[in-house]
Amino acid sequence: MKLTYLGTAAAEAVPGMFCECSFCENARKRGGKELRRRSGALIDDDLLIDFSADTNTAMLSLGKRLSDVKNLIFTHSHSDHFCYRELGFRRAPAFCILPEDREPLHIYGNGNVTDALLKEYGENAVKAHGLDINFVPPYVPFQAGEYTITPLSVVHCLPEDAYIYLIEKNGVRILYANDTGVFPEKTFEYLKGIKLDIVSLDCTMGFISNEVGHMGFPANLKVKKILEENGCVKKDTVFISHHFSHNGLRAPEGDWTYEYFTQMAAPHGFIMSYDGMTVER
Ligand SMILES: [Zn+2]
Ligand SMILES: [Zn+2]
Ligand SMILES: [Zn+2]
Repeated sequence: MKLTYLGTAAAEAVPGMFCECSFCENARKRGGKELRRRSGALIDDDLLIDFSADTNTAMLSLGKRLSDVKNLIFTHSHSDHFCYRELGFRRAPAFCILPEDREPLHIYGNGNVTDALLKEYGENAVKAHGLDINFVPPYVPFQAGEYTITPLSVVHCLPEDAYIYLIEKNGVRILYANDTGVFPEKTFEYLKGIKLDIVSLDCTMGFISNEVGHMGFPANLKVKKILEENGCVKKDTVFISHHFSHNGLRAPEGDWTYEYFTQMAAPHGFIMSYDGMTVER
């Protein structure tokens, strides 16, 4: 499977859209990997994780096509992951021309996500908008094309049941985990003994030690340690820190740039996500 990061920032993007803090001003000057779109990812070319205000631009800039996406999974209903009005442009033939036999876009998410989609697009969403809306409960694997996908509950925006996803295809497993703090016991328990190839962890808080709602890098290390103890980690498992806020990158000792993070995190076995980064296993 190939994981492509479409965006790697927290909700306000990096630099923060309206921010003049020292990190954001420096990020504007540095450009390149320091510029981060709102969060989202693409697996191979047909499974999309979350849909932000930046998804269309990200797909275009990476030479990807939204019409190739067959399945879309949502982590939770915050606007940086669930820009659901964009999906209205899937309606054919008003906004797109597609082959008659093209399947609807299959969408999966928690109750907050599917309730909002059904309210917006109605019970007739498949016929009227080409959107097939499916509630999926946590800890129950479901099949989406060639992928076996398991939503796992995390604590992020209670009382909403935010999900992270275990995604499997051809014997390869990706754990895509944001937005979340250190996982709840039930989720660690579910993952026990399951060997993971790629682990992508929320690192919104960067240098800040935060374990609830979002993680900082110290909490990423804690999750890695627990996954190791639980038999989820192989020699070549890739750990990636992801979903960054400027607040967590504006460290007292100096900016946590891509270059700084890469050097600092390497001994701990972590890499830092950036927009357009791909990892294949
Ligand atoms: Zn977020
Ligand atoms: Zn800022
Ligand atoms: Zn969120």
